[in-house]
Amino acid sequence: MGVLRDAALSTFHARIETMRRFDTIVIGGGLVGTAIGYGLSRAGLKVALIDEGDVAFRASRGNFGLVWVQSKGLGAPHYQRWTRASSETWPALAAELEERTGVAIGHERNGGLQLCLGDEEFAKRRATMEQMRREAGNFGFEYRMIDHAELAAMLPGLGDAVTGGSWTPYDGHVNSLALFHALHRGFAGTGGTYLPNATVTEAQAAPGDFRIDLGGEAITAPKIVLAAGLGNAKLAPIFGLSAPVRPQRGQILVTERTDKAWPIPLGSIRQTPEGSILLGASEEEVGFDTGQKPEIMQGIARRAVMSFPWLAELQIVRAWAALRVMPPDGLPIYDESERCPGAFTANCHSGVTLAGAHANLFAPMVAAGALDPMMAPFSAKRFDVPAAA
Ligand SMILES: Cc1cc2nc3c(=O)[nH]c(=O)nc-3n(C[C@H](O)[C@H](O)[C@H](O)COP(=O)(O)OP(=O)(O)OC[C@H]3O[C@@H](n4cnc5c(N)ncnc54)[C@H](O)[C@@H]3O)c2cc1C
Repeated sequence: MGVLRDAALSTFHARIETMRRFDTIVIGGGLVGTAIGYGLSRAGLKVALIDEGDVAFRASRGNFGLVWVQSKGLGAPHYQRWTRASSETWPALAAELEERTGVAIGHERNGGLQLCLGDEEFAKRRATMEQMRREAGNFGFEYRMIDHAELAAMLPGLGDAVTGGSWTPYDGHVNSLALFHALHRGFAGTGGTYLPNATVTEAQAAPGDFRIDLGGEAITAPKIVLAAGLGNAKLAPIFGLSAPVRPQRGQILVTERTDKAWPIPLGSIRQTPEGSILLGASEEEVGFDTGQKPEIMQGIARRAVMSFPWLAELQIVRAWAALRVMPPDGLPIYDESERCPGAFTANCHSGVTLAGAHANLFAPMVAAGALDPMMAPFSAKRFDVPAAA
């Protein structure tokens, strides 16, 4: 009897010893997962961040670098408020990351302009901005529509094709690769455990008890966050969640460096502190195709040259395509599992802009064990439309 009990105990101990325990597991080491992982780790939690590695689709390495508010949340004031909250927490996040990691991320929040080519675009833009202001209610939404003459005084070399533009003070931009690097360094520096080259395809999920086997080693935690970008669509059902995200391709062109041309980013045109000008980004429904298409690149360049004819003199030195993580209605999906409490998911197409919210607002909710009631409109339940009889 004693021998049997000892054998059982030793099997039990051996099993426990091969498991590493964490407070939270985050799946996905892109901008979303790393911002959340950093927020959790900074708060003192023991966090494991699992990432698939270079074979994965990675929006976080192919984006435009805008911290952009003015087009977010038309008809969805909760998204407008969330994006604004993120933009407001961004300066503190940038300062904190630079201080902790020594990585200069080049964040600026001096407002932004969206240029309009032609009267129709300008009128449409004005209507959009006015609707955003109305929907913001007491929260407020400051914007100005600026005509060609005033814009031309601000933006030397402005093309005649530009009718005007919309301005808000909330917009900004950042070196998003440096941000990504700083978040990873910040995560490691606050004690986080990064587990790369590990693709999660299955897991054991029970309420408050999650276990993932990583080739010979198991890790467990009472909480888990699914932040695997396009990978979330397959992972979510394992945890009683839903993340119906699809890929949307964006192509970007980069010019050679030139003198500082504009004081602020211009929506689809932005200049880095080093002088390169980014042009983009397209929005294409082509599935998982990451190829570049000359006709799309020409369209991006044409619009840029109509906005500033002198851009035609600059050489294009780089171009790429990457896939956005796009929910069906374009709004983020944040959820917690009813079947497996302790499991959360985060999905969005603006992970640069929302990095502030993810590190400083979403991570504390996960740490506390429940999403704030204000997050309810972001639940994937909004897609549960009863089938027609
Ligand atoms: C062309 C373009 C321009 C953009 N411009 C902007 C912009 O100006 N401003 C802005 O705010 N946003 C922009 N974005 C969007 C932004 O880049 C994304 O919202 C953000 O990068 C998404 O981050 P993510 O972590 O959700 O996804 P990803 O970066 O795709 O990361 C997901 C990670 O999960 C991992 N993973 C996937 N499946 C698994 C699995 N099963 N197991 C383990 N790991 C897994 C992958 O390895 C990957 O690293 C742009 C995107 C594109 C494509």
